[in-house]
Amino acid sequence: MKITILTICPEQFDSFLNTPLISRNRRSGLLDVSIVDIRDYAEGSFRKIDDSPYGGGSGMLLRCEPVLDALSDVSSENSYSIILSPSGHRFDQKIAHRLSKMEEIVLICGHYEGFDERIYKHCDESLSIGDYVLCGGELPAMVISEALMRLVEGSMKKESVIEESFEEGLLEYPQYTKPFDYKGDKVPDILLSGNHEAIRKWRKKKALAKTKEIRPDLLEQNKILMVDEELKDYIEEKILPCYKDYERSHNIDHIRKVISNSFELIEDLDVDVNKAYCIAAYHDIGIRFGRDDHEITSGKWLYEDKDLDRWFSQEEKVLMKEAIEDHRASGKGKPRTVYGCIVAEADRDIDPETVIKRCVQFEANAHKGSTYEEALEHVLKHLDEKYSEHGYLKLWMPSRKNIEGLETLRRWMKEGKIEEKVRRYYDELEG
Ligand code: SAM
Repeated sequence: MKITILTICPEQFDSFLNTPLISRNRRSGLLDVSIVDIRDYAEGSFRKIDDSPYGGGSGMLLRCEPVLDALSDVSSENSYSIILSPSGHRFDQKIAHRLSKMEEIVLICGHYEGFDERIYKHCDESLSIGDYVLCGGELPAMVISEALMRLVEGSMKKESVIEESFEEGLLEYPQYTKPFDYKGDKVPDILLSGNHEAIRKWRKKKALAKTKEIRPDLLEQNKILMVDEELKDYIEEKILPCYKDYERSHNIDHIRKVISNSFELIEDLDVDVNKAYCIAAYHDIGIRFGRDDHEITSGKWLYEDKDLDRWFSQEEKVLMKEAIEDHRASGKGKPRTVYGCIVAEADRDIDPETVIKRCVQFEANAHKGSTYEEALEHVLKHLDEKYSEHGYLKLWMPSRKNIEGLETLRRWMKEGKIEEKVRRYYDELEG
């Protein structure tokens, strides 16, 4: 990775370039850093880089010419330029991951009152390192460079990066080293137990508790982390394996997709995450007793699962059973509760190609004796009954993805493209 830093204080980077991570990566060739003095691009004997703001106001602004001349001189077609400003998007680990995959980054450090506004138009992105104001962009440039360098492949051991704060949306769990007993304050026994699974669970629990206390906003952004850990273990160990032998359109991958779609839908909703999770996990489980009324058998399975009484009351189980019963697009009316709407919408992954593929796969399994033309007719009839303008599918909690998917399917139906696509999937399946 190449990082070029435009600054009016190049000397501030002297010790930074000698810090272990940066100097090691420069030596090994993983990192190429250039510090460029904006003053070198200023004209006149005074090398004027700043001027007072139009309209009045305190302080000085960095002028367009030296900054943009420097930017254009150091940029190549692969460069991605970032202007540092307290009013930029807040830099975080997710952005660090995105930027760490780039080949060439240019960081532009401001000073005084900041930049002439026209400079921003020539940059790809503006970033802030936090909600406070520093005197210059040099410290932010160092912060961002170091965060990126830690993520560049080959720079650090993979394990040390994966287990850190923010990587799984959580703050890091507490860690201890010798001595075991510091003036009566002992290391938790579990860490000496040698039981790796128990240690993993303990760490997850502690990381969750710490995040809940210090950064609840992180959990709000990633609600699946709020699901009760023991409930998650139960579903993973006892429920999801039941889908193992189900045909491809209702297998574990489909269930995981519905779980993740449900959590995307509830991002801004005030609902119980444990219920939404459980409903998605059980919603197709009854399909082993037949597809036709699987919403009923799946709901019954959940309701009769006594193990769930550890987390839910009977009333809550009834509500979840009803949500599952309401999840099918063929259901007549609107689902009775918001939970029914969530699972119904999450189940409709209306990616047009996937819809056709799933339909072909299901038909191939359900009517093994059919001829090619009979199977084709069944699939086309099903697609028409469900997805066409007069189809029974209703979006109860429309997501943009599903609205667009439905529009595309209907357009293909109108343009007569759908049969060609169904034939292609059949040929792929058979061939
Ligand atoms: N007038 C600006 C404002 O109110 O947003 C603040 C200018 S600040 C004193 C000078 C320069 O320091 C900025 O142009 C920027 O490059 C850098 N800077 C200061 N705080 C920063 C932060 N939190 N994140 C990124 N850059 C920052």
